[in-house]
Amino acid sequence: MKITKLVRTFLSQNQWFKNCRNLRSGAVKESVDCVVIGAGVVGIAVARELSLNYGRNVLVIESDSSFGTGSSSRNSQVIHGGIYYPPASLKGRFCVRGRRLLYEYCKQHGIPHKQIGKLIVATRHEEVPKLSYLLNRGNENGVEGLRMMEASEAMAMEPHLQCIKALWSPTSGIIDSHSLMLSLLGEAESHGTTFCYNNTVVGAHFEGNQIYLHVSETETVKKCDHHSQQHPDILLLPKLVVNSAGLSAAAVARCFRGINPGVIPPYYYARGCYFSLLSSKVPPFKHLIYPIPEDGGLGVHVTLDLDGQIKFGPDVEWLDPIDDISSIQNKFDYTVCADRAQKFYPEIRKYYPSLKDDSLQPGYAGIRPKVSGPGAGFADFIIQGEETHGIPGLVNLFGIESPGLTSSMAIAEHVATQLSV
Ligand SMILES: Cc1cc2nc3c(=O)[nH]c(=O)nc-3n(C[C@H](O)[C@H](O)[C@H](O)COP(=O)(O)OP(=O)(O)OC[C@H]3O[C@@H](n4cnc5c(N)ncnc54)[C@H](O)[C@@H]3O)c2cc1C
Repeated sequence: MKITKLVRTFLSQNQWFKNCRNLRSGAVKESVDCVVIGAGVVGIAVARELSLNYGRNVLVIESDSSFGTGSSSRNSQVIHGGIYYPPASLKGRFCVRGRRLLYEYCKQHGIPHKQIGKLIVATRHEEVPKLSYLLNRGNENGVEGLRMMEASEAMAMEPHLQCIKALWSPTSGIIDSHSLMLSLLGEAESHGTTFCYNNTVVGAHFEGNQIYLHVSETETVKKCDHHSQQHPDILLLPKLVVNSAGLSAAAVARCFRGINPGVIPPYYYARGCYFSLLSSKVPPFKHLIYPIPEDGGLGVHVTLDLDGQIKFGPDVEWLDPIDDISSIQNKFDYTVCADRAQKFYPEIRKYYPSLKDDSLQPGYAGIRPKVSGPGAGFADFIIQGEETHGIPGLVNLFGIESPGLTSSMAIAEHVATQLSV
């Protein structure tokens, strides 16, 4: 039976997995075409690409009760130009390609977005050479329209801004990422993709060239402790698997029996908190304002919602390591501690000196899945296929941090090509 029919018949009432629960001693096996693990913006874009442009039957397994609840809804919603990344890197290439695809897609599908442009600002003389470096790097990456601005011009554009020089990036913008995901998901579904929520991939094993994916209901997985053995409710036998599990991608891969653990990168987690500006009648900024990048992030910047609400963030807070079971159970701490505001005020006042006391309120937090630790410098996206891990039909996506939202459609294109579908 084709996966779409199977899923429509059974999964729509979630009967399939319920039926399977009683069969633990010999878990049910089902052959499927493609499985995407994780319904974040990247997993959804991959599912859309495979089903729409390659006619594949895709089953997306998502541990949460809805799509896009991970990093994809906990970010700055900025469409990046592609300035910061080394020219030959995947981040550099996918950001530029992804941005172009994204703007085109937004126009065609009516996704709310605004190409408002961005100013990267130097507030001290020592920072000016860094702006020149970013200008050169952006030019090498093919970012259109970059231009150095004197302080007077930048401050005329943004009267609340204080800087000594700025780099103007006219192609940067903002997007309603939920609308984007909803649209990509709708297209994927109408081309045969099925989204299966509340189910978690807990492992895999390999027999010959066949992948056996172990899937259990999330409710059951959440009850497991470190000592209980995880029995899958069902074994899926897919031809293709894309591990797009975001923060949990490395933990998921480590639960694949038979994969060389040496190919799975270490994961580090860096939380980034946002604070909103208490509403003012007129928002103080009309463009994105970014300081010079810091270790682990792009600096506490100004971003705007499509309704003009200003927020500042994200900062960088390296978190303690998390074990694989907790990672798969999605035990990540997104708390925004109100005290962190005290660190935000001096950072923001470097470029926005008139920021008033007590004007920041806690917003939300996101967590970056990083493949290099504190002080280790640039690390690229890792898109890992058979040539690295030796397993036909499996692609692992590791370290898909910023600019993952901007790059999502380009990553999807690349993954489909890598799978030679
Ligand atoms: C603070 C912050 C700011 C950012 N700002 C920007 C920005 O402005 N612009 C930009 O381009 N990018 C930005 N990014 C990066 C961007 O948000 C991410 O790269 C992108 O959302 C990653 O999408 P994803 O689908 O890979 O991961 P996610 O959105 O995390 O999705 C992964 C999904 O997998 C599911 N899952 C996990 N484990 C399992 C399992 N075992 N079985 C089944 N499902 C599982 C999760 O529930 C989740 O839904 C930012 C990121 C952060 C953290």
